[in-house]
Amino acid sequence: GAVMINGKAVAEMMTNTIAREVATLRAQGITPGLAVVLVGDDPASTIYVRSKVRKTEAVGMHSVCHRLPTDTTQQALLALIHALNDDRAIHGILVQLPLPPHIQRDAVLDAIDPAKDVDGFHILNVGKLAVGRTDGMIPCTPMGCMLLLRRFLPSLSGRHAVVIGCSNIVGRPMARLLLNEGCTVVITHLQTRDVAAEARQADILIVAAGHAGLVRGDWVKPGAVVIDVGINRIDGTNGPTIVGDVAFDEVADHARAITPVPGGVGPMTIACLLQNTLRAASMTTSKDVTL
Ligand code: NAD
Repeated sequence: GAVMINGKAVAEMMTNTIAREVATLRAQGITPGLAVVLVGDDPASTIYVRSKVRKTEAVGMHSVCHRLPTDTTQQALLALIHALNDDRAIHGILVQLPLPPHIQRDAVLDAIDPAKDVDGFHILNVGKLAVGRTDGMIPCTPMGCMLLLRRFLPSLSGRHAVVIGCSNIVGRPMARLLLNEGCTVVITHLQTRDVAAEARQADILIVAAGHAGLVRGDWVKPGAVVIDVGINRIDGTNGPTIVGDVAFDEVADHARAITPVPGGVGPMTIACLLQNTLRAASMTTSKDVTL
């Protein structure tokens, strides 16, 4: 049987460390601040935003949440972002995705000050990651996956990594991080001819497709480390439950280690958001010192 990678426990340890570092910064007169912007009332987004706000407050950071109506204009949203860019109490800005269809996502993401872009979706941060520079902001979910992987595989160099899914939020940045750590990386997606055959080659299998139970036991090479990013709501007989993209019991028979859903990657995503916010706040202080 596979070792269960307890993301919840790792995230708690990270969060405790972050809370101590926040206290140190606050003693120096700087309270790290995170602004979360939600446009519309998508139920999943509302839950994620509430959870982010709660965790931000729990580590002693300054937390601001802007909830805007669905019919907010792009111009009004951009004006808010510019105000947050200029707000010295705010070190991190997160615009919850997806945005309503009348708003151009890229225009909004690229309006965020790259130094405050704690989601790492600004094109400058995307570019830095793509060329292997380490001074940008790294997207929270892939960063969380990386931190979990490192606990089981001290060196990723030369490993064969397969990523299922190539979204800008998870799959692509994940593949770039793995490449930057020396993995041989295969990215698979809906047009891939035989995803299972690719997956079977993997020492490291990252699954971010949004398809419940996609990865079966026979897709996994014995001894592989499997990271399940998927969050799928299933309406079962006992009410709704959350499952990943991996058929957990089958895959646990083959894998060396596997993340559960819930309690795996999800908690790590928020911990990494706090980590990025702390980093953004620390960078402003060092800048202030040298000025
Ligand atoms: P997305 O829909 O934007 O992208 C899905 C990707 O998977 C696409 O590239 C698509 O081509 C590929 N794909 C879909 N079905 C496939 C299949 N059958 N075979 C191969 N490739 C397939 O989704 P996303 O935003 O990247 O999120 C993916 C999943 O991860 C979702 O379940 C989402 O809820 C979850 N997620 C979790 C966290 C977290 O914190 N744990 C964060 C973000 C997303």
